[in-house]
Amino acid sequence: MSQTGSCLCGAVTYSITNDITETGACHCEMCRRWSGGVFLGMEVPGDDLKVNGSENLTVYASSPWAERAFCKKCGSSMWYRVTAPGPHHNTHHIGLGTMDDASGVTLTGEIFIDKKPDGYSFAGDTHKMTAAEMMALFGGGPD
Ligand SMILES: [Zn+2]
Ligand SMILES: [Zn+2]
Repeated sequence: MSQTGSCLCGAVTYSITNDITETGACHCEMCRRWSGGVFLGMEVPGDDLKVNGSENLTVYASSPWAERAFCKKCGSSMWYRVTAPGPHHNTHHIGLGTMDDASGVTLTGEIFIDKKPDGYSFAGDTHKMTAAEMMALFGGGPD
């Protein structure tokens, strides 16, 4: 079963060929600004993603190792994509909010938890990592 999604105006649509059951939150400052809130991403290898209307995307290279795609017509944040070579190359973190039906997808992780504004938090048990733990893991940070 493939899962589908789109931007707000519908100019960009996509389908994912593998089943997505988990999502992760990123509380870093970059994701916060880019998404306008909390970014909830679903990890999808590039080979498992089929995009229609990609000519309507604008890509912003937010760091030397990743870029962020948004619809140039409506501004919807679509995904964060790893551009650096290595095991994570071309991994997409697709915004959960762009899915047509996100039911059944569970929030399992939260990264940059120490950057989260203190006025809100997610309920439920998630695997949490701090900025320092992320830096140690990726040697510079995923953003
Ligand atoms: Zn759009
Ligand atoms: Zn982030």
